Amino acid sequence: PEIYLNGRFLPPDEGKISVMDRGFLFGDGVYEVIPCYAGRLFRLEHHLQRLDNSLHGIRMPNPLDRAQWQAILERLIAQLPGADQSIYLQITRGSSGRREHAIPSGIEPTVFAMTQPAVYPDATTLATGIKAITLDDTRWKHCDIKAITLLANVLLRSEAKDRGAAEAILIRDGFAIEGAASNLFIVQAGQIITPPKSDHLLPGITRDLVLELAQQHQLPCRESPISRQMLDRADEVWVTSSSKEVTAVVELDGHPVGNGRPGPIYGRMARFYSDYKALLQTG
Ligand code: PLP
Repeated sequence: PEIYLNGRFLPPDEGKISVMDRGFLFGDGVYEVIPCYAGRLFRLEHHLQRLDNSLHGIRMPNPLDRAQWQAILERLIAQLPGADQSIYLQITRGSSGRREHAIPSGIEPTVFAMTQPAVYPDATTLATGIKAITLDDTRWKHCDIKAITLLANVLLRSEAKDRGAAEAILIRDGFAIEGAASNLFIVQAGQIITPPKSDHLLPGITRDLVLELAQQHQLPCRESPISRQMLDRADEVWVTSSSKEVTAVVELDGHPVGNGRPGPIYGRMARFYSDYKALLQTG
C-alpha cells in the first residue's frame, strides 16, 4: 500500500527524507500505533489525544487537525478493504539543515503515516499466554512521551527474545512499571491492579480500555504501585497493548504464574475485550 508523507500519498520506496532530519540525527520525534480491525480504526480519538500529549511533551504543535488526520488514516486503510491492519504514524521535528542540539525555530516537521496488514492474537495465544522475564528499566525519565527514541526498548525486548520470553517486564527502584512495549496488570486476591500513570510509563490506550471494562463489569480494580514482591506473588499477570490486546503472562523468570495457565479473571477480561471489539464492528 501507499504511504503518506508530508501531504502526499506515494509508494513506500518513493518516500524520502533528508539525512539532516532530526528524527534520523537525534530520534527527535513521536509516534502512534493505531489498530484497525476489519477496516475500522480502533479508539482513534484516544490515540490522537495521546499524540497531542506526546507532541506537547517535546514542544511541538500538531501540524494537522483531527479531521485532517482522520482523512489521511481513512485513505490509508481503504487500500486494504476490510482487513485487520496497524497504522503507524510518526512526526519528527524536521531539518534546519544543520546538526545542532537545541530546537531550531521555524522548521517544518516531517509527517509520515503508513498502514500494514496486522495479525492480532488468535484464540490459541489468548488461551495459552506468554512467557516474560524481568529486567532493570534502563529507559529515560519521560516514558509517558511516545518518543521514537526506542533504543533501550529494542535492547530490552531483544534480551527477552534471546531468553525465550515474549516480553520484558521492567523494574525501576524495586517496582514493576510496565513491559518493553506493553502495560502491566496483576491480579491479587481477586483484585486487578495496575501502576498509576506517571512519567515512568506510557499511558496505554489498551490500559485505559481495560480499566474502563473492569469498572463497567464491576471487577474490583485499583491503580497502585506494584512492588517486585507483589509481582512475584501475583495470582495473575497480564500485559496489554494495541498489538497484544490483553495477554496473560503464564511464566515469569522461569516460574509459573498461578497454576501456569491464564487465570479466571483474565478469562473474563479477555471476553469483555473481544465483546467490545465485536461491538465496534457492528456499531
Ligand atoms: N508501554 C509501552 C512502553 C509501549 O510501547 C506500548 C505500546 O507499544 C504500551 C505500553 C501499550 O500502549 P497501547 O495500549 O496504547 O498500545
